[in-house]
Amino acid sequence: MAKYVYDFTEGNRNLKDLLGGKGANLAEMTNLGLPVPPGFTITSDACRHYLAAGVVPDGLDQEVAEHLDALEQQMGRRLGQADDPLLVSVRSGAKFSMPGMMETVLNIGLNDESVHGLAKQAGGNDRFAWDSYRRLIQMFGKTVLGIDGDLFEHALDALKGKRQDTDLDAGELQGLVETFKGIVHEQTGKDFPTDPREQMRLAVMAVFDSWNAPRAILYRRQERIPADLGTAVNIVAMVFGNVGNDSGTGVAFTRDPGTGRQGIYGDYLQNAQGEDVVAGIRNTIPLEELERIDKRSYDELLGIMETLENHYRDLCDIEFTIERGKLWMLQTRVGKRTAAAAFCIATQLVDQGLITIDEAVTRVTGDQLAQLMFPRFDGGADKKKIAKGMNASPGAAVGKVVFTSARAVELSERGEDVILVRRETNPDDLAGMIAAKGILTSRGGKTSHAAVVARGMGKTCVCGAEELEVSTREGRFTAPGGVVVSEGDVISIDGTSGEIYLGEVPVVDSAVVEYFEGAEPEDELVKAVDRIMSHADSVRRLGVRANADTPDDAARARRFGGQGIGLCRTEHMFLGERRQLVEDLVLASTDEARQAALDALESLQKADFTEIFRAMDGNPVTIRLIDPPLHEFLPDIVDLSVKVATDEATDKDRKLLAAVKRLHEQNPMLGLRGVRLGLVIPGLFAMQVRAIAQAAKEVPGARPEIMIPLVAAVQELESVREEAAKILAESGVEALIGTMIEVPRAALTAAQIAEAAEFFSFGTNDLTQMAWGFSRDDVESAFFSRYLDLGIFGVSPFETLDREGVGRLIKIAVEEGRSTRPDLHLGICGEHGGDPDSVHFCHDVGLDYVSCSPFRIPIARLEAGRAALTDSDSDTR
Ligand code: PEP
Ligand code: MG
Repeated sequence: MAKYVYDFTEGNRNLKDLLGGKGANLAEMTNLGLPVPPGFTITSDACRHYLAAGVVPDGLDQEVAEHLDALEQQMGRRLGQADDPLLVSVRSGAKFSMPGMMETVLNIGLNDESVHGLAKQAGGNDRFAWDSYRRLIQMFGKTVLGIDGDLFEHALDALKGKRQDTDLDAGELQGLVETFKGIVHEQTGKDFPTDPREQMRLAVMAVFDSWNAPRAILYRRQERIPADLGTAVNIVAMVFGNVGNDSGTGVAFTRDPGTGRQGIYGDYLQNAQGEDVVAGIRNTIPLEELERIDKRSYDELLGIMETLENHYRDLCDIEFTIERGKLWMLQTRVGKRTAAAAFCIATQLVDQGLITIDEAVTRVTGDQLAQLMFPRFDGGADKKKIAKGMNASPGAAVGKVVFTSARAVELSERGEDVILVRRETNPDDLAGMIAAKGILTSRGGKTSHAAVVARGMGKTCVCGAEELEVSTREGRFTAPGGVVVSEGDVISIDGTSGEIYLGEVPVVDSAVVEYFEGAEPEDELVKAVDRIMSHADSVRRLGVRANADTPDDAARARRFGGQGIGLCRTEHMFLGERRQLVEDLVLASTDEARQAALDALESLQKADFTEIFRAMDGNPVTIRLIDPPLHEFLPDIVDLSVKVATDEATDKDRKLLAAVKRLHEQNPMLGLRGVRLGLVIPGLFAMQVRAIAQAAKEVPGARPEIMIPLVAAVQELESVREEAAKILAESGVEALIGTMIEVPRAALTAAQIAEAAEFFSFGTNDLTQMAWGFSRDDVESAFFSRYLDLGIFGVSPFETLDREGVGRLIKIAVEEGRSTRPDLHLGICGEHGGDPDSVHFCHDVGLDYVSCSPFRIPIARLEAGRAALTDSDSDTR
């Protein structure tokens, strides 16, 4: 019989798949002997069953009832018992944290009778009891009954006027309960459910359903969290932070999630329940001030934070509540952090002896490293600072101010950079946060919704800029000194310092990029990056090369740690003034004329290759012979037709137009390109091979490798190879001759192709295009968003390698190719060579190297190191 419910004493931190992060960690803390209110977790299996079948699985109700009975026994009171009620919270908690995206309902078990029992329990505190009851109706109404939350908010605001919610007295709150009940009746046609077990049952289903709330779906897509995991549900005995001033609630980090520095980082709110802190209802106080308010709880909390860090061997974030001087832990997890903090913390933990340097490498990701390579503001530039907030998520963002999520989406779709400015954000702002370059809020601390979500996305964020008066309705904000910034005005925000500037501030490279460019590591972050990169390099098996076709790129690739060039595209060398020579080649009507064009191209190509060999200084350079159809180098057919229709047209124009028409193709990507060109245009490939050989002779130590594109059959390769080998032999130059694997047929006949190839390089751009039948230049903007919505794939297959389809072709080619030629050298040079997840795939499948653009080389180096240190099925999130 399936088990769907686990008591906190039964679980542990390793059961995140089943119990979700929150449930698994509550169980872990319970087992560590920390003060966790008792409770139990309904598994994500149950949720998946419910979402698929529309009903809870058989036996679940019974199991929940048994666990509730046990909880009631332990607490000595029954759920909703009129004179002495047990109340519970019903909290979501998926495997991967999705802050604020799913639902939670607190104070389940209250009704018109038990509210009096609760007041008695709290020493006659009526105010507290009615406040808890109104919160239940409000949360339950919004979450479970689907009522617009604003209706409750407006009723509360109308009652409060200019006062704080804590200023409302018991009588007023009792009145508010009646108002709220009225809203429920009016909106649903039914009374608010008063049966405590019914409340709990409905809340559990609402939490299950919230897995598929639009914002949760959007968040999962953004964070690449699989859509089919489902959420667990935690039922926890309530403890109350809103009993009075000796109570409260807070969130904390065991070190600074922005920089990694050790210390006390957190926010505390007296006389409040958990959701108040995150929602920014009242301004929190820094956690340090709790020492003054309640030293005993404060000291206990610090002790627990230390225990948790040592136990989890990582930064933890926690949520806690103090109920009349007694501390309770409501949640912990390994905390989200900025990219900079991730590197610093990883090396700090090594120095503290808590983790090994191997583990440190696995604690950071290529995506985080990419974030550190973002530009920052130019320190020397003229800046007009208008305010300062908290540095919630680093980076430099410049854009037009917008005040609503919808507007952010609208402008960004038009290609504009925007900064989303809000008083505070809530989960409904997610789409706007994704669309914006940066986020600025006037309320809330480093643990506010805006800060947490922005950090998770690696998006620049300044929060809690309290000097700003934000008016969403009027579409403007006011900064000190009467500066008024309206929608559409440009501002610049610095997520590293928290500063806000009027207008556009120029940006400069990051210190990490400067380090990769050769600067000595100076600050803590760059030193941490240096240590981790050195170790990743020492453990990785994959080589990392660059896609580079200019001497500048080649030189940068070397500085960034590239061990050669894996793809030098030669077509860029036929542009500009050299188009003229391609025209001559295409128009040549005699062998002499053709040869003259080829000779001219050869000497230019030789110079190109000489420079690149020099820049690569003895490292291998894989030169790909020309790939695109020749008509790409000729004038546009429409322009030329127009010109020919006028008197100005020359004889050459007319001939050119005829050639353009002759070479025109319906599907150029599937036409006369790659190896086909080499076979059809006499002397073209030979010219390139000769140029390579001549250049190699001039640069001592040069290591050319000649790569033939778009091969589908070994016969194509054989004849090109023979010609090339002859030229090399005549020149006395040694070079490997190999092929790209970018046509599915090549992958499927790799055993034969390897007879004629000394290396394979997977051209996964074309291989993806041809495996899916997707035109690589058109589909992403045409319909990929629909495919993402439909869940056909979670990420574009042009971005992250499609392991099941394209990956399978690669596996076949690797196995078959090596069966023919055991020392066959294997690499990848499609865009996937610099994508973290794809690098892991390349490691797993046994390639020798990945090749990617120079800026992605450090990311590939790091991920190759991580791949070597983690299991083959590890995820790279
Ligand atoms: C590829 O197809 O993956 C490749 C590297 O070649 P190109 O992008 O130049 O077609
Ligand atoms: Mg290609």
